Amino acid sequence: DERDVRLAEDLARRAAISVDNARLFREAKEAVQVRDEFLSIASHELKTPLTPLRLKLHSMRRSARSSEGAMDAETLRAHLDVAERQVARLSRLIDSLLDVSRIGAGKLELDWEDVDLAEVVREVVGRFEPQASKAGCAVTVRAPGPVIGRWDRLRLEQVVTNLLSNALKYGAGKPVELSVSTEAGHALLLVCDQGIGIESGNLSRIFERFERAVSERHYGGLGLGLYITRTIVQALGGTIEARSTPGEGSTFIVTLPGVSAEHSLQTPVS
Ligand code: ADP
Repeated sequence: DERDVRLAEDLARRAAISVDNARLFREAKEAVQVRDEFLSIASHELKTPLTPLRLKLHSMRRSARSSEGAMDAETLRAHLDVAERQVARLSRLIDSLLDVSRIGAGKLELDWEDVDLAEVVREVVGRFEPQASKAGCAVTVRAPGPVIGRWDRLRLEQVVTNLLSNALKYGAGKPVELSVSTEAGHALLLVCDQGIGIESGNLSRIFERFERAVSERHYGGLGLGLYITRTIVQALGGTIEARSTPGEGSTFIVTLPGVSAEHSLQTPVS
């Protein structure tokens, strides 16, 4: 009768709530696990640069104290190079952590100004030139002309830097190509490598916070770069996606709205 129906409904509701609770509990447990794993990776990554830094400082200190004469200028320069590189690495890691906490607090502020995306790309590629040529990796830029829009220069530099450094890191030393163009009032940036690629099951996850598809510690990294990159691109009103074939390479596609019409290279629709 009616009471039985109500009882059954009540039981069903309770069952649904307990299924919900179990799911919430499982998700919370997973989140705690991810956070713990991230903390351990982050501590490791922050500690890694300290070893060579300490070693080089130590031998410079010994040389300064030495009565048999200090190290020669070339050795000193090489020591300073290593020390500076490790400090830069630490500073990049800390910047990423600060960005993530800024994003979490909803405090990622943008400085809107007219920026030429093609120029930003060439500048960032220039900055990576020593690293790329040392790795024997050819980086080419295809940009038929300026692509100017109202964006945030420093944040755009960060987007290009993250995508290019990933292309070099996971690019297996093969050529990398960046191309800038416009399409229907949007800027289009493609960063293309022929490296290790990404399994299709991981493609959607790589933009998540703390997500690292490559578990081998060999590559290092915090798994924050693409999360920060996507957040910036979205804050600029754009989109980012990745296409990849494992073993053949990956292409990251960024679109940004708001290309100034007078600078747009697209052929006008008549
Ligand atoms: P990180 O490189 O520090 O791990 P990212 O957020 O930059 O963090 O990238 C997340 C993951 O996406 C990487 O761990 C890697 O597995 C994968 N990935 C990113 N870019 C590429 C690429 N160009 N080729 C292959 N895998 C990539």
